[in-house]
Amino acid sequence: MIHLDDNLMLTDDGAVMCAHCQTRLGENSHEPLAHAVRRERPSRDAGPGVHADPKTFTTREIVLRQLFCPGCSTVLATEIVPRDEPSFRHWSLGAKA
Ligand SMILES: [Zn+2]
Repeated sequence: MIHLDDNLMLTDDGAVMCAHCQTRLGENSHEPLAHAVRRERPSRDAGPGVHADPKTFTTREIVLRQLFCPGCSTVLATEIVPRDEPSFRHWSLGAKA
């Protein structure tokens, strides 16, 4: 078992699980958060530092996208992105020989 960060652990069989409640979040390191709960809200919900209306700058809808552990609701990832685009913070684990 390897700690990937404060919230994620890599199991001996290559799955990714929550470090707090041991819920399996992904079956492999290429999609480590495949089972995470995804929530999208208006970007202004990120807090007082995000106060500009995105419609001033773009016609695309901008959202606050967060991924949570389905077992304990720990926030695993947060980003502000155009709704029609995939995550910019995709990551995977790999080893080079
Ligand atoms: Zn959890």
